[in-house]
Amino acid sequence: MSSPLQYRGRFAPSPTGPLHFGSLVAAVGSYLEAKHHHGTWLVRMEDLDTPRCVPGAAEDILRTLEVFGLLSDEPVLYQSQCTVAYEGALLKLQAGGAVYPCCCTRKEIADSALHGIEGLVYPGTCRTGIPAGREGRAWRIRTDLRASPFPLPLSPIEFSDTLQGHITQNLEREIGDFVVKRADGLFAYQLAVVVDDADQEITHIVRGADLLASTARQIYLQRLLGLNTPAYMHLPVAVNAAGEKLSKQTLAAPVDTAQPVATLLRVLDFLRQQPPAALADGDVDSVLAWAIQHWDTAKLRGIQALPAPVIS
Ligand code: GLU
Repeated sequence: MSSPLQYRGRFAPSPTGPLHFGSLVAAVGSYLEAKHHHGTWLVRMEDLDTPRCVPGAAEDILRTLEVFGLLSDEPVLYQSQCTVAYEGALLKLQAGGAVYPCCCTRKEIADSALHGIEGLVYPGTCRTGIPAGREGRAWRIRTDLRASPFPLPLSPIEFSDTLQGHITQNLEREIGDFVVKRADGLFAYQLAVVVDDADQEITHIVRGADLLASTARQIYLQRLLGLNTPAYMHLPVAVNAAGEKLSKQTLAAPVDTAQPVATLLRVLDFLRQQPPAALADGDVDSVLAWAIQHWDTAKLRGIQALPAPVIS
């Protein structure tokens, strides 16, 4: 068992397609932050959302990471193999009365027209029980809880992000009771990520700022489950010319593995590391060695999005 002071970071891609520039930024950023602190860096495949997973994508992502010299220090964890742990967490939440079954359809929720920071806020219809004749399919967590079994505040959730500063979120108003187990029987990302980060003893989470708004939900779950809260660092996300986050939906191109040094230098430029031009003549290992030694995130403070490089 590692000492709690030992840095343990991770990169947790969803195998929904090949790595694109934006996901490589999260991989490289989390790796450099871990290695700069002489820490352990893990890769976790978030392959729970089976309808979105693409066959072969997990292997493809691991092969791509290897081309860039990014190797997990421990065997890769696959979320699809951890459902017993998620079930255990759900049982704990059920026992504490923190979750309730919900029968509402998307349309019924949309009709309530309550809006938060990530779309619709669940109006709480099933909090007091499921209407007669209906069946609960999803499990939602109450966001109106004020006391956890552990003396930690539940509302608002406040935390300090290493790059994005002090964040406060009122979950009940801004997010609403969120799903921890979906109507299709799959565990939701928010629950799975909290269980895995705890089970893998992750001390520091470095990921894209698109997940900043999810962090309060994760801290809320950690507090209800009595789990430690890691340190959070949210890196700027790479956006295209239209200002959209690079993703499968915005048809982001797979990263160029044919010229790994050039691609890696573009990632370092994006992360404002100012790599010396001479590194272009070296190999991936020498670029990583330079980047680990010189890693400095000061110039990324407060930045949540940056344009992705345009490759001609
Ligand atoms: N699997 C998530 C994604 O690819 C990342 C989860 C995380 O880093 O917490 O967006």
